[in-house]
Amino acid sequence: MTLLPPLRIPRCLLDPAIPLPPADREGLVLVSLEHGEGQIRAIRPARSGPPSTLAPIPWGTSAEADPTSGPIDLPPQAREAPLALTPLVDAHVHLDKAWSGDAFPNPAGTMAGALAANLDELALRTPEAVLERGERALELAWRHGCRALRSHVDSLGPAASGSWEALLSLRQRWAGRLELQLVALAPLIHWTSPEGEALARRVASGGGLLGAVVGPPFARRSYDRERLNALLRLSDQLGCAIDLHIDESDRLPALGLRQLAELLERQPCGVPITCSHASSMALLADAPLARLADRLAALEVGVVALPLTNLWLLGKREGHTPWRRPQAPLQQLQAAGVTVAVASDNVRDPWYPGGDFDPLELLRLAPLLSQQRPWQRRGLAPFISGAARLLDLPWDGVLRVGSPADLVVLGSSSWGDLLARTPQRRVLRAGRWLPPPRPAAAGAGRFTGLPGLGSVAP
Ligand SMILES: [Zn+2]
Repeated sequence: MTLLPPLRIPRCLLDPAIPLPPADREGLVLVSLEHGEGQIRAIRPARSGPPSTLAPIPWGTSAEADPTSGPIDLPPQAREAPLALTPLVDAHVHLDKAWSGDAFPNPAGTMAGALAANLDELALRTPEAVLERGERALELAWRHGCRALRSHVDSLGPAASGSWEALLSLRQRWAGRLELQLVALAPLIHWTSPEGEALARRVASGGGLLGAVVGPPFARRSYDRERLNALLRLSDQLGCAIDLHIDESDRLPALGLRQLAELLERQPCGVPITCSHASSMALLADAPLARLADRLAALEVGVVALPLTNLWLLGKREGHTPWRRPQAPLQQLQAAGVTVAVASDNVRDPWYPGGDFDPLELLRLAPLLSQQRPWQRRGLAPFISGAARLLDLPWDGVLRVGSPADLVVLGSSSWGDLLARTPQRRVLRAGRWLPPPRPAAAGAGRFTGLPGLGSVAP
């Protein structure tokens, strides 16, 4: 049995049935955790103070991460009682195209440029490239303290079957460390063809999800209700969950979501449905937005917000600083009872030039991106328990006696500390400390994608 030093943990990540002192102003409680055989064995109130007989947090192994660095310098408060979370969940990524933006850049940062570069890269995509991107991404995410990811996979064209083979092999290799869910992303019309139906059967038998793009990427067009309905019926028939890229747009507010809600109200679908993006919904006026949020809640449709890609691509007018920033209206959706998550989406590909498979960075940015406050239950849920519910994971991320001994211990003593700078961190999984993130691996590759920057050594 191992007793950890006192940790400051959000009350919403601790079993509500365990009597503990009231949370402080930051929603944190100082607790002592005991673990053994990979599980939490005891959760007790703790007093702060230097641990003497306890197994310390192994902060001093920074050399493992970066041989050129010295000992980790932590504020005394962070060393005595660090802030700790449970591992995070990234509910929407694209492993198959990660880091492809260097070779296939989209320097203007437009939707049209992203799609064109994506298609150019897709025509040359190989299973080896997907395997290398996926492996590198999962290694980073795991070391960053992520425990599950859902990746969309471009699933039309010659590269599709090789991409699936590569990612299915990675899913198997990483099982037990990271849960990887895979979504077949194809144009809506593909699911009405015999080839699409055959793909859907293969995806369903492999435990994957069906995906499509519903929305007006570039120009006004009529929505094909029949195609969307066909996808719903196919998914229902196969028992295969759906995750849609829907309303990733700064026009025609929530047209795709309204179509989906109408179809589901007319004929329910028995599989879980996730709506990724839902960006243009934010452009609705308050009353229709609230009504649509209520309908989505009643239909048990979940929403994944993807703020980085949305804020980068949407509302763009050359020469204008945008004031309209369409992104999923998380706060109104939560108020209506919709399960929501915030996820990374694109990492250094034509759709977004940044990112590092680090959900903690996304949590640090949340106050700026969507004015969410991580010290509130609703501010934290989209990264941990809400995302876990959306991915139907067996553990909701709340620490109980018998839950996994999984923690992300931060070199921060408060939320303000966390927002101030990217902290050192140590990740505990099943009672064992993982190697820390490797800066060299995180920055691997030369950043040459944008004109004028030249090449910057990693
Ligand atoms: Zn996406």
